[in-house]
Amino acid sequence: MVSNPIRVTSLAGEFIKSVIKPGDIVVDATAGTGQDTLLLAECTGASGCVYAFDIQEEALKIIQDKLVIKGVESFVTLIHQGHETMKEVLESKGVMNNTVKAIVFNLGYLPGGDHRVATSGTTTLMALDGALKLLAPQGIITVCLYPGHSEGLRESEKVLNWCESLEKPFVAHHFQTLNRKLPPTLVIIQRMR
Ligand code: SAH
Repeated sequence: MVSNPIRVTSLAGEFIKSVIKPGDIVVDATAGTGQDTLLLAECTGASGCVYAFDIQEEALKIIQDKLVIKGVESFVTLIHQGHETMKEVLESKGVMNNTVKAIVFNLGYLPGGDHRVATSGTTTLMALDGALKLLAPQGIITVCLYPGHSEGLRESEKVLNWCESLEKPFVAHHFQTLNRKLPPTLVIIQRMR
């Protein structure tokens, strides 16, 4: 039974768990507290590869400690760069287009962190463009959107408009709570073939 309101991050997690198989290559585009990075590592196992991006070095240092505690540091690579460089950075690491099974975005700013270090529409769309090229057939991109603050609202609108123009083989979905004002929402992009 679900006793609390469903969170978009948990919902994204359910899709992620259902898609990723041991051995897959996956990306966390906004590592933040490392929650998704650890979930991804659990799903791929040591035969897979997880790449996690964040522009905050402090956040990555904390995640590095968590990776060691969980014993997953050998197959998780933390990248201190903006996700807008994702395609080029992964290419330089030998990751080819059409090979990444899941790419996870949790936008906005770190709760309890510096609100000025938030994702923003222009760079998020650059990252999503790269993510589409990297994505494997049957793969998914998940994007948690936070329209409750002003930059987040602009960013959400940009992402949703961009999704509406996606063509085959991609299918874009939008999940949202109906009776709350500007709730976080979830976009899922599937690549069908
Ligand atoms: N809003 C979420 C948490 C988002 S954390 C919640 O409420 O749970 C978003 C993370 O993205 C932060 O750690 C931030 O440092 C990171 N970030 C911001 N811009 C980025 C960029 N261009 N590339 C990669 N990470 C970025």
